[in-house]
Amino acid sequence: MEKDMESENMFKVLDDGFVRLVDTMGNDSSIVQAARVSYGAGTKKISEDRGLIRYLLRHKHTSPFEMCEIKLHIRVPMDCWRQWIRHRTANVNEYSTRYSIAINSAMKTTPENWRLQATNNKQGSEGTIEPIEGAQLTEREATLHAACWKEYEARIERGVARELARKDLPLATYTEAYWKIDLNNLLHFLALRMESNAQHEIREYAKTIGEKIVSKWVPMAWEAFCDYQMNSVTFSNKEQKVLGMIYSGRQQEALAFLRETGWVKGDKPNLEAKEFLAKLNDMNIDFPIG
Ligand SMILES: Cc1cc2nc3c(=O)[nH]c(=O)nc-3n(C[C@H](O)[C@H](O)[C@H](O)COP(=O)(O)OP(=O)(O)OC[C@H]3O[C@@H](n4cnc5c(N)ncnc54)[C@H](O)[C@@H]3O)c2cc1C
Repeated sequence: MEKDMESENMFKVLDDGFVRLVDTMGNDSSIVQAARVSYGAGTKKISEDRGLIRYLLRHKHTSPFEMCEIKLHIRVPMDCWRQWIRHRTANVNEYSTRYSIAINSAMKTTPENWRLQATNNKQGSEGTIEPIEGAQLTEREATLHAACWKEYEARIERGVARELARKDLPLATYTEAYWKIDLNNLLHFLALRMESNAQHEIREYAKTIGEKIVSKWVPMAWEAFCDYQMNSVTFSNKEQKVLGMIYSGRQQEALAFLRETGWVKGDKPNLEAKEFLAKLNDMNIDFPIG
């Protein structure tokens, strides 16, 4: 396997990971064909196919998307894989470190990429450590990885079972897997893992799968997914009420309503209100609450 080379079907991710397209079944036409089976009509014009796919996705008629399948070969750090494997609707075969020697590669962090803990999101990161300090962390990381690997090799040489020898390898160690999933569940995976609140590392994989593979495999479904799912915004019932007030120039009434319903206390928005304000901000709608 030429893992250093990007090719038509092979895409590098992170420092030593990749996504390789192994196989696909079906394409945009399969979605259309499945949707039309109930009418007994064959595939019509391309423009109609596009309209139908967009209609199906817009209205969450998801089963026709299950007619397409994709199989990927991936190489991914174990901590990232731990998030990935939570998606239960895929078929998986993973490299066995009980059976084989572990992959001698662990994800390294460069001096400028040590992300700091976010202050307002317990699960997230924001900003990075100064590169000078980052360089020290990177150096210590290299020492740690080398020590872990050396100990692993020593255990193997001593005859310790691979299943036990591996237990102190870092979570950054790369693993490989074959991952097969239908398009409906893949889009669900991409919607969750391409989102800005997903961890950077898995987002890199999801973006690679979406932008480099899915966009070419099923361009119409991908376009509809970007329009109606990935880049769309939804508003709750309450948010629609407030939007209506803002649009008809009743900003004070909108603010009073948000206070009344507990979304804003004094000048402080709660989490839901902050999310709403962020959506307004993205759409360049000015609604100061201070
Ligand atoms: C940003 C982010 C943060 C997260 N943080 C955490 C965390 O802190 N802790 C944690 O444990 N997890 C966390 N997760 C994982 C998350 O809770 C889900 O397990 C993961 O995203 C998979 O989603 P899913 O179950 O919808 O997907 P899949 O497993 O792919 O399932 C797809 C869909 O199939 C259906 N489905 C599949 N299996 C079943 C079933 N057994 N019963 C009913 N319906 C089923 C559901 O409709 C589901 O949405 C996080 C995920 C994200 C994206």
